[in-house]
Amino acid sequence: MASQSPERNEIEQLDRKYTLGTWTRQQDFDPTQIVDTDGPRLVTADGTSILDFSSQYVCTSLGYDADRVADAVAEQVRSVPYVSPGWSTEPRARLSEKLAEITPGSLQKTFYSTSGTEANEVAFKIARAYTGKHKILSRYRSYHGATAASLSASGDPRRVAQGPEIQPEVPGMIKGPDPYAYGSSLDPAESLAYIDEMLKLEGGTVAGVLVEPLVGSNGVLTPPDDYLPQLQQIAHDHGAVLICDEVMTGFGRTGEWFASTLYDAEPDIITMAKGLTGSYQPLAATTVTEEIAEYFEDTLLNQGHTFAGHPTACAAGVAAIETYEREGLIENAREIGQYLTSKLESLVERHPSVGERRGIGLHQGLELTRSEKERVPFEARADKVSSSTTVLDEVGADALANGVYFYTSVNTIVVTPPLTITEQAV
Ligand code: PLP
Repeated sequence: MASQSPERNEIEQLDRKYTLGTWTRQQDFDPTQIVDTDGPRLVTADGTSILDFSSQYVCTSLGYDADRVADAVAEQVRSVPYVSPGWSTEPRARLSEKLAEITPGSLQKTFYSTSGTEANEVAFKIARAYTGKHKILSRYRSYHGATAASLSASGDPRRVAQGPEIQPEVPGMIKGPDPYAYGSSLDPAESLAYIDEMLKLEGGTVAGVLVEPLVGSNGVLTPPDDYLPQLQQIAHDHGAVLICDEVMTGFGRTGEWFASTLYDAEPDIITMAKGLTGSYQPLAATTVTEEIAEYFEDTLLNQGHTFAGHPTACAAGVAAIETYEREGLIENAREIGQYLTSKLESLVERHPSVGERRGIGLHQGLELTRSEKERVPFEARADKVSSSTTVLDEVGADALANGVYFYTSVNTIVVTPPLTITEQAV
């Protein structure tokens, strides 16, 4: 976030001087200090209160005052702050049981890591070992993480931002089209047929088909209702597993625990992070079906991290899930989501630059357009990695000046408030 006030305070100056900013030229790294939070609001050092309609990176789904989670973290830090993953702890066991309960189908066993990126890397390894194949098929409008393989599996502009000499792509990552009816020449059914054809032509070498059930940072793309089960069938027909990246959509965003449930799919592997702890602790998970787990009974699962199943993070996970349940936050996402939908739809009708609303529950986006009729985008996808200010940046800055923060990306205003949001705030 660019500095809000013309003068940087001491902390902002220190941060600017000694911290390397993410995804940016360092000259553009100019962060505003946050000193406090209040429900869905952030408070800056000069006392400005900002209504957070982004949930940051779509991750602070519980808002900023989930005391139960904070208490669980504090208690765990005082009893067993850490043991390596070879030991058992109550929070990890309870969280794994809970995940088996709330994930769809026969998803049963969980492998832990600390970021969505790692959760996807783990999924690749598991899919490869389980199928005996090596390629991963993903889609162009996607983001799956920042490390070599997960970024190579992403279609996001950041994948190509530094060129092949500095950022070579990992071999075996192939990409198909998206169900993006608004801006693609293929309709969703054609995009599925295309993926089917790709899998056929790859000659049985694809281990996993990896998708965000409802695309997030690459434009909030909502597939038709029957898309995901069909994609799963196509993957299985070609001997590949379906990996649903629910890092952003998991934990109630769409009004269901997982978007896969919303679309009646039972993925073979689900990856999650962000909402898993409401971001009170960094934690990610890769949950696999009973059948896949069984395969590893006598096959080496050659993966591990020092912080895998970190007790404090797992304690936050258990408390976060209890908070979603007790406070009815998933139902809230569904209900307020309907209200938000009607509000955003009215913008499409009223504003010539708002081309389309997409999304479900509290996972919504507005695609802006230069020309409603011709659907001409304001910015090319590549603009996202340039340092020039785009129209979308200006829209975001305008909103911020009016006290509301939301994330903008690739022609889309992403509207993803915390699940605690009220109708009044919308
Ligand atoms: N997958 C999706 C769908 C995401 O949106 C993200 C992050 O935004 C990731 C994976 C990567 O997660 P992390 O940033 O925790 O590594």
